[in-house]
Amino acid sequence: MTASRTIPLVPSASVHEHAWMTESVHLTSDGRVRYVRCAGCSVRRVDVDAVAVAPPTALTREIG
Ligand SMILES: [Zn+2]
Repeated sequence: MTASRTIPLVPSASVHEHAWMTESVHLTSDGRVRYVRCAGCSVRRVDVDAVAVAPPTALTREIG
């Protein structure tokens, strides 16, 4: 009698690359907290973006 081996049909979470979609965003003192969900397997995660370092925006036209 031979031992049969079965291959699990349900892929584990590590099998696919999550496709994160942002569900909601909250600004905090630590940065922007984003609640994301994978479009493929519906797993959720909380991400934080460091405080945004946006390039300066010109308030006036160049002078001089
Ligand atoms: Zn996923």
